[in-house]
Amino acid sequence: MRLNNKVALITGAGSGIGRETAVLFAQEGAAVMVVDVNEAAGNETVALVKANGGQAAFYKADVSKAADCEGMVAAAEQTFGKLNVMFNNAGISHKDDDDAINTTEDVWDLTFNINVKGVFLGCKYGIPAMRRAGGGSIINTASFVALLGAATPQLAYTASKGAVLSMSRELAVIHAREGIRVNAMCPGPLFTELLMKYLNTEEKKQRRLVHIPMGRFGQAKEIAYGALYLASDESSFVTGTEFMVDGGITAAYVTPV
Ligand code: NAD
Repeated sequence: MRLNNKVALITGAGSGIGRETAVLFAQEGAAVMVVDVNEAAGNETVALVKANGGQAAFYKADVSKAADCEGMVAAAEQTFGKLNVMFNNAGISHKDDDDAINTTEDVWDLTFNINVKGVFLGCKYGIPAMRRAGGGSIINTASFVALLGAATPQLAYTASKGAVLSMSRELAVIHAREGIRVNAMCPGPLFTELLMKYLNTEEKKQRRLVHIPMGRFGQAKEIAYGALYLASDESSFVTGTEFMVDGGITAAYVTPV
């Protein structure tokens, strides 16, 4: 098994990418601390992991709050003895996120508090735990929009993912000699709740699909497999990357029709 004897903490594990990753990591031998602000959803993920014969526990946390992030890391260490892998994956895409003229300060602040400060706080408390464990792997969820601009505006979200990408790169450099690797996972457009809530008409879906060389949305599971590689020792020389799992969207200028 690829994550034997490892302890992984996953934020936003109540849905989408986080849930699929929790199930996959546990299948590969990791003990998983499932973290989400939504208690019912998080507990459902734990039940799914256990139904597959895996090991998991739930901790309720809002990643935009320092005390919650300190608590989730402590819970992982207390429950499973250490922390080897941290997947800072929780994020939101607000329905009122728009262009510079129409995005309110409240939407901007909420998006940055969860998507950027949440990753910072995860690292703030996760890195000392990884030092205690003798090293580890941090995966921070950015997005393809950290690299490409879209005419369908989500300014706060896009800027927040750019911040996650640059923060991950610098953390990778700072901690490289302590055996702590940091990579930014950059998913392309996925068929999950988060994006489908936003692309809520067939026309909007087609407008996005036209840019994806593979001609389809990705599945959360396909991101989970990328995260598995970054979490495992197979990626021992991989740090500071923008790890694209995006159906080719960032490589495309004109796509086949
Ligand atoms: P999702 O909405 O299915 O799941 C997100 C989870 O995060 C939910 O369970 C939610 O309860 C939790 N969450 C939200 N705010 C939280 C908070 N403050 N504290 C703790 N948990 C919180 O979304 P998803 O599609 O699985 O997205 C996961 C990550 O991937 C996000 O960071 C998202 O920005 C990123 N991403 C998604 C796509 C896509 O197309 N779906 C593309 C690129 C990047």
